Amino acid sequence: MPDLFRRDKDQTARRLADLDSVVVIGLGRFGRSLAIELVESGTEVLGIDCDESLVQELSGKLTHCVRADSTSEDALRQLAVQEFDRAVVAIGTHIEASLLTASLLRNFGVPNIWAKAISEAHGRILEQLGVGHVVYPEHDMGRRVAHLVKGRMLDFIQFEPDFAMVKTDPPVMLHGVPLAETGLRRGHGVTIVGVKKPGGSFTHATGETVLSPGDTVIASGQPGAVERFSELR
Ligand code: ATP
Repeated sequence: MPDLFRRDKDQTARRLADLDSVVVIGLGRFGRSLAIELVESGTEVLGIDCDESLVQELSGKLTHCVRADSTSEDALRQLAVQEFDRAVVAIGTHIEASLLTASLLRNFGVPNIWAKAISEAHGRILEQLGVGHVVYPEHDMGRRVAHLVKGRMLDFIQFEPDFAMVKTDPPVMLHGVPLAETGLRRGHGVTIVGVKKPGGSFTHATGETVLSPGDTVIASGQPGAVERFSELR
């Protein structure tokens, strides 16, 4: 690589480190979706992958995209990765590369590190390395889809073992009655937090909200309770 190009590349990465930007290391299916979503929501992203074809494919879509081996301390330093506040290690199958990269980021003192784990053991080691946010995309998505397959839910998100939210059609017993008068929270342990009329957008639900056929609601509560609620017709 000509020196001149290397300097330009490094300077762009350095400028990005100064901004409120994120470095995403590993641009496979997970890293790429995450990086593109960040860019589309207004965050500047430095994407790094050792695969040249991936880098070329994404170079117009991310703020800056560079081919580098993230297990090389020199390569990361040259890209000013040590100056970023937020980094994502989106390497899964190559566990060794994931761990070495995470360890370098920790040594650099990057304050906020997210890393993808593909197994419990992988996640445990990332946590032992001091990675603050370990995510399990395949595992979490599998659990979420299981709830969708099992019930009549349109969507399901579990935040903690004892708290979840579900998007569903409200049962007939809720039609035409202000929510405060339905006894839903007392009787079913569920709170309606959002309502969408056909063709409209979601708005916050209040005690005065009256549901009609065709509405969609977001309900919160214990996972079992919201699941049972979605089964009511
Ligand atoms: P996916 O997100 O597609 O499910 P995966 O979990 O199978 O990916 P890997 O294939 O191990 O994870 O890695 C994801 C990306 O990270 C790949 O595009 C790969 O080229 C890249 N990658 C792997 N090792 C390194 C490395 N040492 N340096 C830079 N990039 C790497």
